[in-house]
Amino acid sequence: MIPHSLPVQRAPLHVRKSVDLGDGLFVCGDHRDTASIQGALVSGRRAARAVVRRLAPSA
Ligand SMILES: Cc1cc2nc3c(=O)[nH]c(=O)nc-3n(C[C@H](O)[C@H](O)[C@H](O)COP(=O)(O)OP(=O)(O)OC[C@H]3O[C@@H](n4cnc5c(N)ncnc54)[C@H](O)[C@@H]3O)c2cc1C
Repeated sequence: MIPHSLPVQRAPLHVRKSVDLGDGLFVCGDHRDTASIQGALVSGRRAARAVVRRLAPSA
């Protein structure tokens, strides 16, 4: 066992957590989606889109 190797995912599972923390602060990683490479990648895409929306709301 590797302690703290993955984010805790307690039931009921809420897979999608916000990547926009407000005040121009964005976060991504497996702790924002599923605890997996897939989740990390998806959260990165969501964070990038959120940044673009913030910088260019009409884009
Ligand atoms: C043993 C093991 C096996 C796994 N096998 C699979 C698998 O088969 N398939 C799968 O989909 N997923 C697997 N996972 C899960 C997958 O590896 C993670 O979900 C994924 O790598 C998370 O990516 P991330 O970018 O969110 O975080 P990470 O890959 O953990 O990247 C975070 C980075 O931030 C750095 N960091 C941390 N704190 C700071 C700080 N204060 N300042 C600067 N840098 C910091 C860390 O050093 C690290 O490089 C496995 C995980 C483990 C531990």
